[in-house]
Amino acid sequence: MRELKDLVRPNVWGLKPYSSARDEFHGKASVFLDANENPWNDPYNRYPDPRQWTLKQRIAELKGVTPDSIFLGNGSDEAIDLLIRAFCEPGEENIVVIAPSYGMYGVAADVNNVECREVSLTADFDLDAEAVLNAADGRTKAIFLCSPNNPTGNNLDREAIYTILRHFDGIVVIDEAYIDFSASPSFVGELADFPNLIVLQTLSKAWGAAAIRLGMAFAAPELIAVLNKIKYPYNVNLLTQEKALELLGDTGRKDRQVKEILAERERLAALLSEPPFSYRVYPSDANFLLVDVGRATAMYEALVEKGVVVRNRDNVRMCHGCLRVTIGTREENDILLNALKECK
Ligand SMILES: *Cc1c(COP(=O)(O)O)cnc(C)c1O
Repeated sequence: MRELKDLVRPNVWGLKPYSSARDEFHGKASVFLDANENPWNDPYNRYPDPRQWTLKQRIAELKGVTPDSIFLGNGSDEAIDLLIRAFCEPGEENIVVIAPSYGMYGVAADVNNVECREVSLTADFDLDAEAVLNAADGRTKAIFLCSPNNPTGNNLDREAIYTILRHFDGIVVIDEAYIDFSASPSFVGELADFPNLIVLQTLSKAWGAAAIRLGMAFAAPELIAVLNKIKYPYNVNLLTQEKALELLGDTGRKDRQVKEILAERERLAALLSEPPFSYRVYPSDANFLLVDVGRATAMYEALVEKGVVVRNRDNVRMCHGCLRVTIGTREENDILLNALKECK
């Protein structure tokens, strides 16, 4: 890996971050007259903890990392944007992504005027490490991978990911938004071996909290410090910090829901593969199925008519004819199956 100092944009490396009232004073006090807050309306009158310390301690415990290895943001999307802004000089440097995959990497690159180089997955949606490494050059600061991948649903080949981690001298981002649904272990356990690795996770999927907007990034403390330096001081609000602590306190609930989703995923995959459907259903390690229904756009519209919304992926590279179907409750999935029968 290149030195972190040589990867981070010089203006970011040299930046003196904004220092908020809550940053400058830590410790015990009974009278807070330092932040121009209204003295009434407790607890909402106070600015939230800019470093989200209590929440990070809980997440650290849960994930087996230290709190200073964690960045928390307004969804994973904030971490994606900050990574591009921290590392890539607009108009000069680039990122490499896989395709098809999550659209936000390219959008965040576009917003920042950073080139986004797309490398196709193989015919079975797997990672071609050599092609990804060949797409990178001296101006490539980061490679974005997503495993399990959206919208294909599969885990990327682990050996191919290791190859990229070992041979690329910039930052490797692995987006694990769907890791709780996967049979493969998280790369968070590998952080000690790869100083260039950053793993993204979220409360939006398995934890059932897309509305509160909490994304997590895990990496070496030096790398996390760069993100903390450029984030908005109060990027995670008090309501989110409190609700997240409550949710993360009940792993049993999350595990039960994941288990049920996995059972439904297997049931739905089997039924959709058989008559009367006989669709091609791609293997999934996530909470959705990519299903080749043939006339995807017509099917999508017919389903909408019946009040069932899925994601039409007909216009996505390598996904022609495909719908992406999120696994719902058993009742919801049955409604989908009945609607599909009537669309035939
Ligand atoms: C849903 C999803 C996310 C979640 O983003 P948030 O901003 O945390 O809600 C991240 N990455 C991928 C690939 C996703 O599909």
